[in-house]
Amino acid sequence: MEPPETDAAPTHGPGGPYIEGVSDYCDRWCERCPLAGRCRLRAFELELGDLADPADTDADRRARFWRALKTVYGVDARGELHESDAATVDELWEGEGPAATSIYEAAEADDWDGAAEWDEGEEPADPLSFAARDLAVDLLKWLREHGEAAQIACDAAAVHPSGVAPSDALDVIRWYGVQLGPKLHRAARADARGRARDRAGSAKVALIAAERAFGGWTVLRDVLPAAFPARREAFAAEIADFQRRLASLRAAIDRTFPAARTFIRPGFDDGTLEEEIADS
Ligand code: SF4
Repeated sequence: MEPPETDAAPTHGPGGPYIEGVSDYCDRWCERCPLAGRCRLRAFELELGDLADPADTDADRRARFWRALKTVYGVDARGELHESDAATVDELWEGEGPAATSIYEAAEADDWDGAAEWDEGEEPADPLSFAARDLAVDLLKWLREHGEAAQIACDAAAVHPSGVAPSDALDVIRWYGVQLGPKLHRAARADARGRARDRAGSAKVALIAAERAFGGWTVLRDVLPAAFPARREAFAAEIADFQRRLASLRAAIDRTFPAARTFIRPGFDDGTLEEEIADS
């Protein structure tokens, strides 16, 4: 374990000043994120490394955890972490005890990762989340059945007239198709808790997911039926069904969360991204 050396959270990442809140309403596709160099969460995760690496001991993982906190957040940034207290460190590491409870409750209040579960008895009737979940289940089934063939066809296909490589379109479908449900779930949960900002921000990410997945299918609609003449009609019908359901979800999100479309996500919608692109 390394003792804390500073109580101030660092303000700069490798690409410039960290953008506060940039990871609150992003798509979590860090490998492709144009603002990754300015994201504190990404920096933390990179510092943390692979916690599942069997070559590491628990002591290695603890050391990396504290180093990452110190490097990226400042160890005492929340005023609750005191490495000199070994019991606190172990509780935190194990996710148990009052220290861990305090940290993780604070994280949930901040909606660090948006992954918190429903509180018992709180779940509202939420047809949008359920529809998105069903869509994701059907997508996963489709990918299990046709994903490998689709990948081979997309890898071999020329860039689509829209400028998108078919293999990228398939990646987009895989990523956003399963992200839609959790984001709508979070928007509904924020709604139930009266958090207007989180409701709109989460719904905006869902809106983006629906639109990007729809666009991905548009590319595959031109690739797969042509690559597999024997399944031409089946592929066309399946893709049309996915697109119909995505379009329906998109319209429902606009209706249900009218503040979503104009929500300004830190970094992505406030002009920072354009500046970043212009400077690169
Ligand atoms: S903003 Fe989101 S997608 Fe981008 S690096 Fe941070 S966590 Fe990843």
